[in-house]
Amino acid sequence: MAEAGTLHDAFIDELRDAYDAEKQLTKALPKLARASSNPQLREAFETHLQETEEQIARLEQVFDLLEEKVRGKHCDGIAGIIEEGKSVMGEDFDETTMDACLIASGQRAEHYEMAAYGTLVAWAQAMGHTEAAELLQQTLDEEKAADEKLTALAEGGINREAADAAHPDEGEEDEDGEEDEDEKEEEGKEKPVAVSSTAKKAPAKGGRR
Ligand code: ZN
Ligand code: FE
Ligand code: FE
Repeated sequence: MAEAGTLHDAFIDELRDAYDAEKQLTKALPKLARASSNPQLREAFETHLQETEEQIARLEQVFDLLEEKVRGKHCDGIAGIIEEGKSVMGEDFDETTMDACLIASGQRAEHYEMAAYGTLVAWAQAMGHTEAAELLQQTLDEEKAADEKLTALAEGGINREAADAAHPDEGEEDEDGEEDEDEKEEEGKEKPVAVSSTAKKAPAKGGRR
């Protein structure tokens, strides 16, 4: 006995891994949604939760097609990614910074899934499991779209807002945070002797940090 496993066996294993990963994500996505301040971000996580439920059903269809029992196998990879996401959610960040971090966590999960489904589709195609390949491709497309949505939200304002909060004086006249009037007077004049140590404008060594 103890015959060496085939690619088909590995395929079934990976399907079980993906099935378990999706199940874990149905618990993690609501947490990401709840932690989001930006309403569009929250909606993106909620929408992806619904898609994730469909992806679980799709995997069940794939198991049926292959005449395999529907079964998950603990996915350590996504568990680790979710664990990191949880620790980020425990940090004390301002709202936009937290949103940027939630996007980062979400994208780690999406990329992990994209890698998994990319492999599953390729293996299914290689072995002639055409119908399974088509179902898995649908999921792969959804994961890619979810990832792109997160990129669009990050680049569409969340990163900028968080960056502005991190570097509030960026692109503005020097100001010492005391009176706004100072700024106007300052033009062409010596900078008033700073009271508080506000050497903000001096680029920190190594540039931005
Ligand atoms: Zn096969
Ligand atoms: Fe998924
Ligand atoms: Fe996903």
